[in-house]
Amino acid sequence: MVRGLLTGFQSLLFPASCLGCRLPVETDRSWPLCSACLKKLPLWQGPWCARCGQSLSGAGAGVTLCRACKENRRSFDEAVSCFPYKGMVQELVLAFKYGGKTGLLPFLAERMFLQVRRQMGNDPADWVVPVPLHPVRARERGFDQAQLLAGALALKLSLPQARGLLKRGRATAPQAQLTRAERFKNVREAFCLRPRPSLGRSRILLVDDVFTTGATANACAALLKKAGAARVTVVTFARG
Ligand SMILES: [Zn+2]
Ligand SMILES: [Zn+2]
Repeated sequence: MVRGLLTGFQSLLFPASCLGCRLPVETDRSWPLCSACLKKLPLWQGPWCARCGQSLSGAGAGVTLCRACKENRRSFDEAVSCFPYKGMVQELVLAFKYGGKTGLLPFLAERMFLQVRRQMGNDPADWVVPVPLHPVRARERGFDQAQLLAGALALKLSLPQARGLLKRGRATAPQAQLTRAERFKNVREAFCLRPRPSLGRSRILLVDDVFTTGATANACAALLKKAGAARVTVVTFARG
């Protein structure tokens, strides 16, 4: 109680510190970064792979797909992401996901909203669908980060959110510890659609925090397409 009061008092007297440089955040205190660090965020820049959004800088003229997309069938149509997953961006995601800093949600959702608008215009989709976290993990963590992001993004875009549409079947091993081949195998049978919906030619934004190999997004997109979705765009805050 006393400690809580003291912390509350301290945050009144001293502004929150920036996650990037640890200096006080001078403007909006609910923002995790100071204005200097905000400007330093490395926005995901084109040219992009037309399918997965991977950077194609350095590739020759006329190249539209990255190697991974040329070699593998992708069930989603495109992928939109805000930042490369490294440095400050990685810190933000880890603080949100594992550090319990759910107060970062408005900031993350705002960036995703701006990037969707920038790349997809004013009418990007009909539905927003979160990539589901396994219920056991959600319980351990106390929240589902993809669902929070999807909810906030749907609100900003004035789109309905289809919660609970995709479900995790069995517990999958944490993707971060697996090789690329193992990741695809790990997620192949991990998802199902419940109840069987009819997505009647609708366009879907499939939301997650980080896009890594695209294996998870691919498994979810395949199911959505089977249920009739016309177009699936993966939207993430960061990508590896
Ligand atoms: Zn800073
Ligand atoms: Zn690609």
